[in-house]
Amino acid sequence: MFKRCYSCFRPKQHCLCPEVTVIDPGVSFLFLMHPKEAYQQKTGTGRLCALSLVESEILVGIDFTTNVRLLELTSGREGSTPYGDGTKYYPVVLFPSQQAFTAADPRLRNASAGKKLLIIVIDATWFFAKKMWKLSRSLHDLPCLSFENDYRSRFIFKKQPAPEYLSTMESVGYLIRELKAAGLAEPGADESALFRLFDTMVRFQLSCEQTRNEEQARDLHPELFKRQ
Ligand SMILES: [Zn+2]
Repeated sequence: MFKRCYSCFRPKQHCLCPEVTVIDPGVSFLFLMHPKEAYQQKTGTGRLCALSLVESEILVGIDFTTNVRLLELTSGREGSTPYGDGTKYYPVVLFPSQQAFTAADPRLRNASAGKKLLIIVIDATWFFAKKMWKLSRSLHDLPCLSFENDYRSRFIFKKQPAPEYLSTMESVGYLIRELKAAGLAEPGADESALFRLFDTMVRFQLSCEQTRNEEQARDLHPELFKRQ
C-alpha cells in the first residue's frame, strides 16, 4: 500500500505540492469533481489546480442536483433555495452552450456587477463531464461561460475524443487569462504559474512512464540489460 498526500492526493513519492504557486485571480472557483478524478486519478489536475487558487472549493459527486453546498453558493437566484449567501457571488458554469457568455461579453460584466464571479468547473473527462452536466439539473438554471478562443492542450495524457480537450488546470489558466483581458480578474494574478505547474506534472509523468517502460523491457528481455 502506498501512502497518499492528502493535499494533492497523489502518491506521497509523487507529491507535487512543493511545486504549487498560489495565485489570487480575484474570482472564486468551485470544482465539481467526478469520483474517478477524486480518488482514482493518476494525472488529474483538478486538485493541484484548486490548491493553486486562493479561493477554491472541491465538491465530489456525479449528480449535484440536490447538493446543499452548491445550492448554498448559487442561491439567491430564481428557483433556488432561500438559504446561503446568494448576494455574494455571480455563479457561471464553465461549459459550452449556445447561450454561453464569453469573458469579453458585456452582458457578463453587467450581470455580475457588484458580485464576485464564482466559476463552476466540472472536473472530469469530457465523457463524464457531459454526463454530470445532464444529471445535475440545478446547473441548467445557471449561466454558462465558454472560451473566446480555441485552445489545444499542451499535452494529452488521457485518450480524449476531441483534440481540443483541455486539462482542468489549462482550462482555468486560459480562463483567467481571458477574464484578465476583459477586466474581470485581478490584473496581477499570474496564471502562467498554472501552465508551469502543468508542464512540471507532464515532465514528471513522462519520466515515470519511461521508468516503467524500462522496467518492463528489463523484465521481458533481461539478456539485453546484462552487464558486459
Ligand atoms: Zn501533495
